[in-house]
Amino acid sequence: MKRIIALLALILVFGAVSAQEQSPEMVQFLKEFPQRAAFNTHSYEFVHVTDTPAPKGYQPFYISHYGRHGSRSDWAGNYTYKTVRDVLSKAKADGVALTPAGDSLLRESAYIFEKYDGMDGRLTPRGVREHRMLAQRMYDRFPEVFKHGSKQIRAVSSTVPRCIVSMNGFTAQLLAIQPDLDLDLDTGEKFFAYIARGENGTVLARTKAEMARLPRQPIDTAAVFKNLFKDPEAGKKYVPHLGMFLYSIYAVAKVAEAYDIEDNLMRYLPFDEVYNQHQQQFLSAYLNQCNSELNGDIRMPLAKELVDTLVAQADRVASGASKRAADLTFGHDWPFLGLCSYLGLEGVGDRLSMEEAAAHWMASRYCPFAANLQIIFYHSKKASNPVLVKFLLNERETAIPALKAIEGPYYNWADVKAYLATRVPHTQIVAHRGMWKENAQNSIASLGEAQNFGCWGSEFDVHVTADDVVVVNHDGIIGDTKIQTSTAKEVCQHKLKNGEHVSTLDEYLKQGTKNKDCILVMEIKPHFNQEREDVAVAKCLEGLRQHKLLDPTRVVFISFSYHICKELARLCPGFTVQYLEGNKTPAEVFADGINGIDYHYSHFKKHPEWVKEAHDLGMSVNAWTVDKADDIRQMRDLGVEQITTNDPILTREILFGRK
Ligand code: MG
Repeated sequence: MKRIIALLALILVFGAVSAQEQSPEMVQFLKEFPQRAAFNTHSYEFVHVTDTPAPKGYQPFYISHYGRHGSRSDWAGNYTYKTVRDVLSKAKADGVALTPAGDSLLRESAYIFEKYDGMDGRLTPRGVREHRMLAQRMYDRFPEVFKHGSKQIRAVSSTVPRCIVSMNGFTAQLLAIQPDLDLDLDTGEKFFAYIARGENGTVLARTKAEMARLPRQPIDTAAVFKNLFKDPEAGKKYVPHLGMFLYSIYAVAKVAEAYDIEDNLMRYLPFDEVYNQHQQQFLSAYLNQCNSELNGDIRMPLAKELVDTLVAQADRVASGASKRAADLTFGHDWPFLGLCSYLGLEGVGDRLSMEEAAAHWMASRYCPFAANLQIIFYHSKKASNPVLVKFLLNERETAIPALKAIEGPYYNWADVKAYLATRVPHTQIVAHRGMWKENAQNSIASLGEAQNFGCWGSEFDVHVTADDVVVVNHDGIIGDTKIQTSTAKEVCQHKLKNGEHVSTLDEYLKQGTKNKDCILVMEIKPHFNQEREDVAVAKCLEGLRQHKLLDPTRVVFISFSYHICKELARLCPGFTVQYLEGNKTPAEVFADGINGIDYHYSHFKKHPEWVKEAHDLGMSVNAWTVDKADDIRQMRDLGVEQITTNDPILTREILFGRK
């Protein structure tokens, strides 16, 4: 249902968008083959390819493959295919004559709806064929990988049926060619977690805001009605919402190929509308999933687990620990695009602004149905020679522009791994008291801004009042009000610089729940005795629990009070607790059961060995409050996990190379 609501919202917002400043390159691309306007609902386009010969003495021995499921029906066909069918058939039944084009659209939409009904989001027969043919071509191209050696092939799929059926089609074809292959097929939630890791809330929100600034203007729709109805004015009465109707025609047109309809159904819409619909679809995907200037560095970590898994599988084979001939993974478009972007593949992995992507990013070439990445591994007869790899994007040789190849499209696997290790910075950003420069420290707005900016975490300070309410503020005194000896009412009447009042933890955590990707770094301030500190800890845990935030992936605890740190370590095993004072060695802190340190950076300058000492003990290391470029670089180079800063913008520029 969420998808349907999102779809309808999209239609209402963008239904009447007009083409503006169309890119000549994109216009030519779409006019050459109108079905490309379907973007990720475009069926697979196989183009004959040739292989650059491998360097002398090298043979392929292993393939790592990630394939998106093949052609499928769309979701929400009741809102699209059925809408078109019903509008046209009702008009016709009432005596409003259709043009020949109207009749053919009615016939095609009725056919698609009949095939779709009861098969929401399922693979079509064409989707199965796409995977069988991919398998056949892979085999024909690299037969030695399958014929010699162990013949062991491992295939895992997302838990979604269209991916499982794609996997079955692919592997059935391999078995048909070579029945003695040793195939191992699997699916399950634990694979889904890395094959198709979820989207990031910050990224989605930023994309939505960016897409809203695309220029729009009303379009002339007269041509649509004239094309479908002999009496266009009479026909209009059967269309309750024009934007929805236009989108529905586009939905029918874009899925037609999946049902083996070779006719160009995009012709039912003016080209400008086709261009707009295509732009809306692929730009959202680009901004959400790829290396966009807007979201690239925030999106990148989501692909890390998939990349790490593929690398580990390959390394086991390259080192001789595994005899596997191929690892085949079957998933979806969003992780596929994330994977290609993480690898920095030419074209698909380019880092672009929204305007540049709108003009140049050839979406349907990169991510049609059955889009695939094949990484082909080569070894030399001479054992001392390095393992080489080449990358095939949708079966075409491709390049990683940031990396120097050994020869042609062939890369040293060791170079590829070293490059991949640099793709996600080790050090993450914590906004100190939120992003407050346009707001106020410890305000709810400053937390919201840190979340929207994509900070790894946002720090805030809490005390418990005399009436046992946790409030958010740095200083223990506001005006004449001493927080720990006053009531919450007395404390919260004070205003922050941005007009908010001092918030209770309960109010603050409501904002915290809005973005699951930004970790709450909760600093519990020292209190005047251990008894009050115990109350503060208990009340903080209770507050987090009430908001379903008492979760080690959502919150990190820090405190200058050693007693509070020890209490948290005792009460919250599995959570990260970092001690702030900087007056103990990591070993001393560790001995007391506390698993992290968060020291002022000057302590790490004086004792750089503490970072390694902490890491050797399995502890996490955070440095506060690092605002100068040289200090940020120094802490990054020391290898701390987090930098807590008043300047997340500068820190991001240094850590992620972002402007
Ligand atoms: Mg603090």
